[in-house]
Amino acid sequence: MHALIAQQSVTTSGLEPNFIIELFRAVLGDLLSSPWLVGFFALMALNAMVRTVRAVVHGRHSKDPQRRFSGFDRAEIFARAGNRCEQHSWLFGRCRESEGLQADHIHPHSRGGATAVENGQALCRRHNKQKSARVPWNWELARLARRRGAYFPPGMPRAVVRHRTTARPVANG
Ligand SMILES: [Zn+2]
Repeated sequence: MHALIAQQSVTTSGLEPNFIIELFRAVLGDLLSSPWLVGFFALMALNAMVRTVRAVVHGRHSKDPQRRFSGFDRAEIFARAGNRCEQHSWLFGRCRESEGLQADHIHPHSRGGATAVENGQALCRRHNKQKSARVPWNWELARLARRRGAYFPPGMPRAVVRHRTTARPVANG
């Protein structure tokens, strides 16, 4: 491959298409000779593909200028959850913690999630800490909405709204 590059630098008549193709083949050949590298690049490509698809699906959303929930929003998020953590696990069911609850963005604020009651959930300190900035899948949101049927007051909307759809005046401060 190096010989190929040296050869090209001698003939300084600009890059010929053939040279580009040859170089590409040489690099590709090197890469494909190592199964570890092939696996690594395949994983990277898959990861990039999933990210791109999800970015397209969710669109490009700017960050909500308001990061913290207002006192009113927090009170509503806690009240409708019966002042209890909304984290649920297959093994232990719903978390029983009711002390030191925190209002959490279900769709992370750093990923364009709205600071609104519709995107909020009550979490205990431990479960809020465990939660990463991962964008939840639609089936996870559907599952949460279904579970909320057991403890939300009747008539309270249970669906999660990820992004702010209408412009709202930014709270002062
Ligand atoms: Zn909890």
